[in-house]
Amino acid sequence: MSVEHLIGCHDCGCLYHREPLNSCERARCTRCRHELYRWHAGGPLRRADSLVALTLGALLVYLLAQSFPIVTLELGGMATGATLLQAVGVLWNAGMQVVAAMVLLCAVVFPGLELGALLYVAIGLRRGRRVPGFHLVLRVVQGARHWAMTEVLMIGILITVIKMTSLARVVPHPGLFAFGVLTILCALVMRYEPKALWELADRLAPRPPQGAGAVAVAHAPDTLLTCRACGLVNGYPWQRSKDGACHCRRCGAALHRRIPNSIGWTWVMLAAATLLYVPANLLPVMYSRMIGGGTEGDTIMSGVVLFWNTGSPGLAIIIFVASVVVPVSKLVALAWLNATAQLRSRAAPLARTRAYRVVEFVGRWSMLDIFVVALTVALVRFDALATITAGPGAIAFGCVVILTMVASHQFDPRLIWDPIESNGERHV
Ligand SMILES: [Zn+2]
Ligand SMILES: [Zn+2]
Repeated sequence: MSVEHLIGCHDCGCLYHREPLNSCERARCTRCRHELYRWHAGGPLRRADSLVALTLGALLVYLLAQSFPIVTLELGGMATGATLLQAVGVLWNAGMQVVAAMVLLCAVVFPGLELGALLYVAIGLRRGRRVPGFHLVLRVVQGARHWAMTEVLMIGILITVIKMTSLARVVPHPGLFAFGVLTILCALVMRYEPKALWELADRLAPRPPQGAGAVAVAHAPDTLLTCRACGLVNGYPWQRSKDGACHCRRCGAALHRRIPNSIGWTWVMLAAATLLYVPANLLPVMYSRMIGGGTEGDTIMSGVVLFWNTGSPGLAIIIFVASVVVPVSKLVALAWLNATAQLRSRAAPLARTRAYRVVEFVGRWSMLDIFVVALTVALVRFDALATITAGPGAIAFGCVVILTMVASHQFDPRLIWDPIESNGERHV
């Protein structure tokens, strides 16, 4: 038996033999139902081809979306418009550097980095070779994808546009349509998982044979470590760096049986996020100054109430779900997962794994309110008539979203299954 044909489940750590699949089949973990790998149409070369075409198209649309204004607002003979980068600039100059940096990273830097890095890797694969820095670049794709939020931004743009129609005349610009197309293309690009690309590279550009010591001799499960980055199951003896740390034989990422100090760090992040959630709700996220009126502060909840009272119950519900329901349920769910993992509970592991997946999936949607605030502030700049600026609540809320995302990333879902494994129910 060779470790080359083993695959480790990302969510529960269970090990399986890799079997060939029939068309349209998916291999799933029998314990936690996580998808291990799937059948792909066409040969590896065709997959590399379509990845090049898709990422190239997405990158071009990305450049268009970032260079054109999204919408312009017309009010009292004045017009304001902004590209996404200009919106970031307005926030930065208004002293909201933290919020500006969040928008810049999640809506500009990480999406661009993901597409650029993926195109670079795909062009190499298309030629049947690994580009220099292949492993590092694929790990960059993995990290950037976690924080790239094009789809959340798109919904944020739509909400802002609907909200603005009550205040001024809204004229759509090419940036708006480009972001719409980009959202669809990014969803297609997401279907190419970095782990599948490592497998693809092994088929298109086979690795040089390993040295005699590198291939596992013993196959007891305790001598196998699954790489969290590329998914390769590494057999003992592990490849070690000078400081004694284990590294993946394929991609070089650090190998750990479980994420180091996962429970402790998850508690730290959760505590910080819970503390910040208080000012995030009590302090205004926006200040609006209208003609003939003073300056008014809007908290998240007063914004929701305003939408509800001004005849937009749909928007009120979306903002309420994204800004209140999602963060609160995420904090509660993660605390429950972390506590049960710490107590080595054996109850309902499947339900807890599913809860973890939901938390991972919905967490990013809380950034919605931050995008709406950023775009509103950038657009409503009609000097004497109406001006909206961001408030300190937005900084606190943005930090809550980031901290809960880091917390769920830090939590190791395999901990849920560890107590069950230790009771002799090991599946290999
Ligand atoms: Zn599993
Ligand atoms: Zn690896």
